[in-house]
Amino acid sequence: MKKIMIKDMPQHIGETVKIGAWLANKRSSGKIAFLQLRDGSGFVQGVVVKEEVGEEIFATAKGMTQETSMYVIGEVKADERSSFGCELAVTGIEVLHAATDFPITPKEHGPEFLMDNRHLWLRSRKQHAIMKIRNEIIRATYEFFNNNGFTKMDPPILTGSSPEGTSELFHTKYFDEDAYLSQSGQLYMEAAAMALGKVFSFGPTFRAEKSKTRRHLIEFWMIEPEMAFVEFEENLEVQEQYVAHIVQSVLANCKLDLERLGRDTSKLENIQAPFPRISYDDAIKLLHEQGFDDIEWGDDFGAPHETAIANSFDKPVFITCYPVGIKPFYMQPHPDRDDVVLCADLIAPEGYGEIIGGSERIHDYDLLKSRLEEHNLSLDAYAWYLELRKQGSVPHSGFGLGLERTVAWISGTEHIRETIPFPRLLNRLYP
Ligand code: ATP
Ligand code: MG
Ligand code: MG
Ligand code: MG
Repeated sequence: MKKIMIKDMPQHIGETVKIGAWLANKRSSGKIAFLQLRDGSGFVQGVVVKEEVGEEIFATAKGMTQETSMYVIGEVKADERSSFGCELAVTGIEVLHAATDFPITPKEHGPEFLMDNRHLWLRSRKQHAIMKIRNEIIRATYEFFNNNGFTKMDPPILTGSSPEGTSELFHTKYFDEDAYLSQSGQLYMEAAAMALGKVFSFGPTFRAEKSKTRRHLIEFWMIEPEMAFVEFEENLEVQEQYVAHIVQSVLANCKLDLERLGRDTSKLENIQAPFPRISYDDAIKLLHEQGFDDIEWGDDFGAPHETAIANSFDKPVFITCYPVGIKPFYMQPHPDRDDVVLCADLIAPEGYGEIIGGSERIHDYDLLKSRLEEHNLSLDAYAWYLELRKQGSVPHSGFGLGLERTVAWISGTEHIRETIPFPRLLNRLYP
């Protein structure tokens, strides 16, 4: 008898198969028991009919507790009522381990309780669907960049220098030296792009974010492409094609998962390049027209501002050319204005906020050196980075996409904590 996974059942209609599974849920009467089975690849209903399996197997099925593990044997039957297309007519059950008092029951639980039980909560249908969508976004990311001539290069996680504001750095010892956990691999990716042309990284980043929001994690994963000979506008074109590709891949390959999450897919179907662009200047004007009096030219946007701007469009929107004072030191100035830089944030629709930050990078040695000095950054620590501008410097651009923000948006998950298997939050290092 063949041992198969639930997801492959539609290819085995009419066959008797064996499946390793857990009991997700159960309903039973005196004559029939319906077992909701899950094996990690999917969920399926197992039907146990007393008259057919006999007293003993029926009693086993009826008495099974939630999350009991087993091998279940049965015939795969086509079933049009299930969204999955089949069910299992159970003929035998071999219990492997009987679970006791699984804490997450079908009733409603509060978020803190669920987070305390994250190691078990991951087994739920909802979390299964979110993790499948996360995985599809990762798969489609590799597909997109590999198909477009990029090489994956991995920047270090332990670093001596860091591009972003220092207050959010995690500090650690590196033997006798000080080291920091990476907040972004960008500076290294710029060096990588000078070697391999078009590169991308995918790895964890760490930020000691002191604010509790539904969009910030302490540890999150970033995709960071960097491209030599690519200027500002071309960088935006890569971003919109990439984001459209991952959205369309999820729509094509995660239908059941989106359905399970109740995601309104009509909001995703139109996500195709090009995306609209609005300048920072015009975004400020738009906010003033909408009655926001808590923001002025020169301020960074807060979540309500980003949401209001995003709501004026039905696709992700690029906000371009922010004031130089609120962006990092390495961004290329606008050719016609010295008060704004050639950068763009991509804001997701429906209030999910900034998913990408990107820019053209400064490629002139003297300009970069003076920017480092203005920001009081150590020329020693950045010597290698500065040297890139002395060895065949070229215009180059790149961006960072936050994986979990993107998962939250595409899956329609309200809080970012559900988009990573084990979230690290301000008040949570366990489980
Ligand atoms: P925000 O303005 O939302 O704090 P940021 O401008 O600080 O984000 P960047 O430094 O531009 O973020 O990082 C690139 C991307 O990484 C962001 O666009 C976002 O998708 C993601 N990101 C940044 N900080 C976090 C975080 N704390 N948790 C999860 N994702 C994050
Ligand atoms: Mg931030
Ligand atoms: Mg930002
Ligand atoms: Mg940003």
